[in-house]
Parts: sequence; structure tokens; C-alpha cells
Amino acid sequence: MNENIFSQHQLSTWNDCARRYYFQYVKNINWAEPSEHNIIGNNLHNLMYYHLNGQKTDHLLKDAGPKITELWQVCQNLEILKNKALATEYKFLTRLANSNYWLQGRVDAIFYDKARNKYIIADWKTGKNLPKNFDNNFQCLFYLYSIHKSQRSLHLNFFEKDLEFQFIKVAEEPEIKTVGYSKKQAVKYEQTMLNVINSIVNTEDFVRNPGQKCKSCKFEIICE
Ligand code: SF4
Repeated sequence: MNENIFSQHQLSTWNDCARRYYFQYVKNINWAEPSEHNIIGNNLHNLMYYHLNGQKTDHLLKDAGPKITELWQVCQNLEILKNKALATEYKFLTRLANSNYWLQGRVDAIFYDKARNKYIIADWKTGKNLPKNFDNNFQCLFYLYSIHKSQRSLHLNFFEKDLEFQFIKVAEEPEIKTVGYSKKQAVKYEQTMLNVINSIVNTEDFVRNPGQKCKSCKFEIICE
């Protein structure tokens, strides 16, 4: 792991619990967690990628179970698909302010809504619930900041206010949460991320933060 490059997952993990960050990113304790939810999520992301790139999806659906087939029907009727897809599974690496830190990640898709002149970062969510607090949601602020700064590599030209992030819950009854962006937020997000990364690199104690998150933490059995 390059110590100057950070993902949104690193920042979110740190924000949730420094000890969890330590297990995952310092000690690199990782193991596969295959679950039905992960399998469905991966399949739908693949289907969407093929679909948005104008490729056939028949072979992906051939052995897909009924749940995936049902959710794929929902996906195809999503309102956002009426817009032009500018990028899919877009990987970025962008510098954080003038620091030595870089932000790395991949967004599910970027669309352009011509009628509203909005560039939309889409994030397909196949889990149960959408995040509750959007102001401090690292995925959201990390992607808005990074995509705005990736304009040159995307061959685009837009202002902060022209960009938005959409959490799109793919379920029988889809749910969409939209988060806007502005120059003021760009300054705030930049400082928030700098503060978090400075805390990460300067810490010597990876203090436990026991709470609700422990219930779903894969490190619970080794956390003391
Ligand atoms: S079990 Fe709780 S305190 Fe321990 S690493 Fe996980 S989230 Fe942190």
C-alpha cells in the first residue's frame, strides 16, 4: 500500500473506528466475506457496466438467480438511465489540495443530465439502507471532490454547482438520495479530508471505538 494514497473506504473506516483501521490497513488483515448480498451486488454492477457500454448481457443473466434477474429489471427502468452515460467504473487518482496525499477510487458511473446541466455521479446500492447522514458521508464528499478535480482526464469542463452525487438503492422500490456540491463545500471537504489523513498518518494509538458498528465488524473476534 502506498502510504500517500488513500481511498474513501480508508477514511470512512478511520472515522468509524481507529482500531478497525489498524486491523485492516496497518496489519492488512483481510479475508474474503462471500455473502449473498455481495454476490448480488457484484452481478448487478457487472450487468450495469455491460449495459451502459452497449454490450450484451445475456451471458451474464444465463445462470443468474431469480433475485438478480428481478433486480436487473428494476435497474433498467431507473430514471437516471435516460441520461447520457459519460463514464462507467471510472477510476481516478487525484491530488488532495497541494499536499503530498492522493485520493484514489472508482465511481460506478457518471451521467450528464442535459436538461438540468448536471453531471451526476451514480452509486448503485444493493444493501438494505442508504446512508442516513450525508453531510459527513466520506464516500459522497470524497467522490464529489475527486471527480470535480478529475475534469481534465474526463475531458469535461464544469463548475462545482453542476455536479451532484446520487445514491441509488436498487430494490423492488428504488430509492434515490441526491447530494449537491458547491465551491464552499469543496473548501470544507478538502479541509475535512486533510484533517482525517493528518490524524491517520500522525497517530500512534489506534483507539477502539466500541458501539453499534461492532455488530457488523469482522474484527470483533480479535478486538480487545
Ligand atoms: S469490534 Fe468495534 S471497537 Fe473493535 S475494531 Fe470493530 S468497530 Fe472497532
